[in-house]
Amino acid sequence: MKNRKFIFVTGGVTSSLGKGIISASIGVLLKSAGYKVTIQKFDPYLNIDPGTMNPYEHGECYVTDDGAETDLDLGHYERFLDITTSQDNNVTTGRIYNNVINKEREGKFLGKTVQVIPHITDEIKNNFYKISKKNKFEIIITEIGGCIGDIESLPFFEAVRQAKFDLGPSNFLCIHLTLIPYLSASGELKTKPTQHSVKKLLEAGIQPDILVCRTQHLLNSDIRNKLALFCNILKKDVIESIDTDSIYKVPMLMKKENLHKRVLSKLNLNCSNPIIINKWNKFLKNLENPKEELNIAIIGKYIELHDAYKSIAESFIHAGVKLSCKIKLFWVSSDKLSANNINKRLKNIDGVLVAPGFGSRGIKGKIIAAKYAREKKIPFFGICLGMQCACIEFAKNVLKMKDSNSTEFMKDVKNPIIDLMEDQKSIKIKGGTMRLGAYKCQIKKNSIAYKAYRKKEIYERHRHRYEFNNDYLQLFETKGMISSGFNKKLGVVEIVELKNHPWFLGTQYHPEYKSSVLNPHPLFTNFIQSTINLKNGKQ
Ligand code: GLN
Repeated sequence: MKNRKFIFVTGGVTSSLGKGIISASIGVLLKSAGYKVTIQKFDPYLNIDPGTMNPYEHGECYVTDDGAETDLDLGHYERFLDITTSQDNNVTTGRIYNNVINKEREGKFLGKTVQVIPHITDEIKNNFYKISKKNKFEIIITEIGGCIGDIESLPFFEAVRQAKFDLGPSNFLCIHLTLIPYLSASGELKTKPTQHSVKKLLEAGIQPDILVCRTQHLLNSDIRNKLALFCNILKKDVIESIDTDSIYKVPMLMKKENLHKRVLSKLNLNCSNPIIINKWNKFLKNLENPKEELNIAIIGKYIELHDAYKSIAESFIHAGVKLSCKIKLFWVSSDKLSANNINKRLKNIDGVLVAPGFGSRGIKGKIIAAKYAREKKIPFFGICLGMQCACIEFAKNVLKMKDSNSTEFMKDVKNPIIDLMEDQKSIKIKGGTMRLGAYKCQIKKNSIAYKAYRKKEIYERHRHRYEFNNDYLQLFETKGMISSGFNKKLGVVEIVELKNHPWFLGTQYHPEYKSSVLNPHPLFTNFIQSTINLKNGKQ
């Protein structure tokens, strides 16, 4: 751990200021400066992980290669930095307490009274440092979830305070993100909430080194002076984070404010390397100058909260930018979709994506959407439950097996097209018991999937219990729905596609978890390219 640099990113005034994006943006700049960087997030809630949480509560559950169900901010870290994260990158209060209580039961505390300080805080600190012991990172950015002042975040802040002493001042940095509200009545930006937030941080024994101030309006010199004076920092350490229309512009905005230089200088690190961000700038240029435009419908049941499908929405941006195409997403509630209104609801739609999900609500709408796309030859992309619905639809309407379903929705259905794998049948507890994380998949040549990946073997991430029932595979294939991706070891279908259709593909896995700014996912890119071609009459 010697000489590893730790940056802690804390938040104040209000939640949802974009701590994850700021952390990821700092990561992009430091990585571009030539350092090995990773980011981890500590969440103050009591769930062991967000896997059991309703997407309405917490947005998407992001899955890593090692099968951890994590906070959606890890998705931002991977997409921005083009790195892979793991279970170690996301720790919750629930996990910390669980570890401590297990140790207590094992008798590891030798008769001591187990307390928040030092036992919980020690466990938090061990988890802060764990990632740097296993890997050769030079800089570890740690985002602390929640806000200073929240009761449940207190042990995390206490651990951050102590970390400064463990690590030494030149290896420790605290960046505090706050809000500078604008009062339209008086036409003023106000610094008082930030002053109070920093006071709260000082009460916890932490002096922030850098302030990042989220604002709707530019911070003038007077405001910066005032913030510096009241918050006990240098004026050049007051960083403006102005609202912007794309999260991908934030790294460049932070660069303009010299945030990376301030960070590196405070950590006694060299900034001689030129920041290599040509690719990032090219991405932004394409983002601003699209040559094509597509309307894509996302059919899902949590559409009121777009965060529930964060990685899918971002994957469309990455693929769209690569092809200089603006993707307009139309969020369609599967609950409200019926055979009567689908023509109207999907009018002017160039392509359809049926989203993942759990439980029976909205299933009918998803099946109707798959039928519509199949019959009208509209490009169709089904992800996980989306793929399962496409298979059920095919069984019902092409194979004429009306009583087909997934056993998730109908236990004793006559034709269980989608069913539990044997080893899932005995599982009763919910958390972390699905098929999770990266699995190998063999791709068939002469398929859409092969055209997209140009590889015979891929690894993609899973999060589901149910699988395609192989008893029906031969029948499906003879009637035109083939399995173009298969996991030989488990003997399960991973990709299905339709033969006589411009682009109709479903994946049992979640490709959206592996798309990044610099490496858009091949399936999303291929889906968009084919949809553009079709729209322009080139297919
Ligand atoms: N509910 C389905 C299953 O468990 C699909 C899950 C998903 O879409 N992620 O198999």
